[in-house]
Amino acid sequence: MVDPGNKALSGNPTIVAIATPPGPGGIGIVRLSGPNAAAIISELFIPIKPLSGPLTSHRFYYGWISDSSTAQKIDEVLVVFMQAPRTYTREDVVEIHCHGNFLILQKILTLCQNCGARLAEPGEFTKLAFLNGRIDLTQAEAVLELLTAKTSKGLQLAVEQLKGGLHQHIQSVCDRLISIKAVLEVAIDFPDDDIDIIQPNSIKKQINQEIAPVLENLISSADNGKVYKDGVSVVIIGRPNVGKSSLLNALLREDRAIVTALPGTTRDTIEEHLNIKGMPVRVIDTAGIRTSTEAVEEIGIQRTRAKLAEADLALMMLDSSGPISREDLQLFESIGDKPLIVVANKFDISTTTLLTDLEAHFSGHEIVRTSATNNQGISQLEDAVFSMVTGHFAGWDPGHAVAPNARHQAAMTNSLSACHRLVEGLEHNLPPDLLAIELQTALDHLGDIVGYTTTEEILDKIFGEFCIGK
Ligand code: GDP
Repeated sequence: MVDPGNKALSGNPTIVAIATPPGPGGIGIVRLSGPNAAAIISELFIPIKPLSGPLTSHRFYYGWISDSSTAQKIDEVLVVFMQAPRTYTREDVVEIHCHGNFLILQKILTLCQNCGARLAEPGEFTKLAFLNGRIDLTQAEAVLELLTAKTSKGLQLAVEQLKGGLHQHIQSVCDRLISIKAVLEVAIDFPDDDIDIIQPNSIKKQINQEIAPVLENLISSADNGKVYKDGVSVVIIGRPNVGKSSLLNALLREDRAIVTALPGTTRDTIEEHLNIKGMPVRVIDTAGIRTSTEAVEEIGIQRTRAKLAEADLALMMLDSSGPISREDLQLFESIGDKPLIVVANKFDISTTTLLTDLEAHFSGHEIVRTSATNNQGISQLEDAVFSMVTGHFAGWDPGHAVAPNARHQAAMTNSLSACHRLVEGLEHNLPPDLLAIELQTALDHLGDIVGYTTTEEILDKIFGEFCIGK
C-alpha cells in the first residue's frame, strides 16, 4: 500500500529525462528532479556572467552546458533551478532548455547520468508529485488526459480534474462516511450503553439522500465524459460505389482538427479520426468490402459484421440515384440493433422511387440526405451523429463537469454497493462492528480513487501509461 505524503526524503535518487517530444524543435528540455539536481547542474553549467553564489531558485540563467571532462561546449542554454517544495515533484528540480535537437538532448542527458542521475521511468515526475502529496491520484491521471486529449472539451474535462474537481467530490463523500464511522465506533466501544447511539434512520437517510445520489451522479458522468475523452467509433457501411470514401473525405474536409489518419487493421478498411462538436470520432470506412462473387460476398458481410461489432454507431449508406437493392437490405439486416443513421447519398441525382423506398424500408430510423461530392448534408449528418451519441445525456455540460474514468467508475460502483449493504444491515439491526466493515469497504474503494489506499501494482499501471519525462 502506498502512503502519499510520507515518502522518505533521504536517499532519494535524482532522476533525469528528456521532457520534450522527439524530433527537431525550437527548444528541447532536459529535466532533473531530486536532491542532487543543484549539484549536477553546477557541474555542467557555465553561466555567461559568473555567479557570486549558488543559483537563485525559480530564476532563469543564460549560459552553456559543457562536458567538464573534455571542456567541450555542448549547447547554449537557459537553466532554471527550482528549490523544493515549490516544484512539480516537490523535490529540487532543474530544467535545462537547450536547442531541440535530439543529439544535443541525448548528450546532456548522458552528462547528467554521468554525474549520478538515474534515467526516469515513464511518468516518474508525476508519480513523485503524487507520492510527495502535491497532487492526488485523480490529478495525476488528469495530467495524462491533458497530454492526450483529442478535443477542446476533452481538454476542459482534464483541466477540471487537474484543478481537483473530482477529488473534492470524493472527499465530500468520504467526509460524510467518516462521520458515520465515528458514530459506529462509539457504538462498538460502548456496547452496553443504554443510550441508542446508532440512529439507524438518520444514517439511512444520510446514505440514501446525501451519499448515494452523489455517487450515482458521478458514476453516470463517467459514461458522458468517456464520449468526450475517448470518443466514439462510427462505421460506414454500404455496397460498392454508394459513396463511402467520398463521404469520409467530405467529413474530413469539414473537420479542421484531424488528429491522425491511420490505415485500418485490415487492408480493406480505413480509419480516420475527426472531431464532431468537441467529440472525438473514429470513422471506419469499409470501402474495401467488395461483393462480386457469392464467396466474396460472404466474406464482405463477415468483415462488415466484425467492424460493426467494434462500432458504437453505423452509417448505412445508400445510393439515391437508383432503387434499393437486395444487397442494401442484406447489409441493413447485418446491422441488427446497433444505433443506426441511414445516409441517402448522391441526393443531387436522386430518383423519386428511392425516396418512397426509403420511407418503406427504413421508417423509424433517422434518414439524412447527402451529396458527398458536393459537400451537401454533411453538417446535418454531423448533427445527427452528435445527437444520437449524446442523446441520452442531453444537457450535460462538459465545461463544468467532472468526468471520472473507468477505474474511478468501477471503484465508485463498489463503494456504492457497500453503502447499500450498510443500509440493509441497518434494516436488519446488524451489530455495529459488522456495519463498520461495510462502511470501511465503502471508504477504501473511494480511497483507491484518490490514492489513499492504492496498491503499487495499480500505481505502476497508471504511471506506466505516461511518456518518459512527464
Ligand atoms: P465507395 O465505393 O462506396 O467508397 O464509393 P466512392 O466514394 O468511391 O464513390 C463512387 C462514385 O460515386 C465516385 O465516382 C464518386 O465520385 C461518386 N459519388 C460519390 N458521392 C456522390 C454524390 O453525392 N453525388 C454524385 N453525383 N456522385 C457521387
